[in-house]
Amino acid sequence: MTTQLPVLYPTRSCGECTACCTVLAVLEIRKSERVACPHDEGSCAIYSCRPPSCHGYVCAWLLGWGDDADRPDKLGLIVDTGIATDGGGFLARETRPGAAEASRSRLRRLARRGLQFQTPVGKRRGPPTTVAVDLFNGERYLFTSDGRCHSQPPRVDITFD
Ligand code: SF4
Ligand code: SF4
Repeated sequence: MTTQLPVLYPTRSCGECTACCTVLAVLEIRKSERVACPHDEGSCAIYSCRPPSCHGYVCAWLLGWGDDADRPDKLGLIVDTGIATDGGGFLARETRPGAAEASRSRLRRLARRGLQFQTPVGKRRGPPTTVAVDLFNGERYLFTSDGRCHSQPPRVDITFD
């Protein structure tokens, strides 16, 4: 299933956050998931010519989900928006052990109510969806749009030699 959302617009700036530079795989530079990028020097050392997949990545917080304290480097979670995953819907990746448990009720609510996000003409809300939660230790569970929680097979990271 693919969650359908209208065109989304970043409403914030990343600031000091570089959480996705560690958590996400970057195919163009053969960077594996959950491995620090060699170009991450507190900010991107190759920012002006960073790979397209870095340039195009926008997390839910950047779109307006949550508060300032929910920036991924502070929250310990990166929420991907409206991207089809193997479970469909959104994907919340834990960057710090225990962060998902601390946000459990909010992740459940995100599945039940959909993502509220900013556009140039005001706040919009996406449809109810599923939220897959990847824990730091590789375990995974899924909230369905009825708010129920289901265990999932362990995560398999994308890795490059
Ligand atoms: S996780 Fe989100 S806020 Fe942090 S650097 Fe990536 S896109 Fe920016
Ligand atoms: S190339 Fe730059 S933007 Fe892309 S993951 Fe590495 S540090 Fe982050």
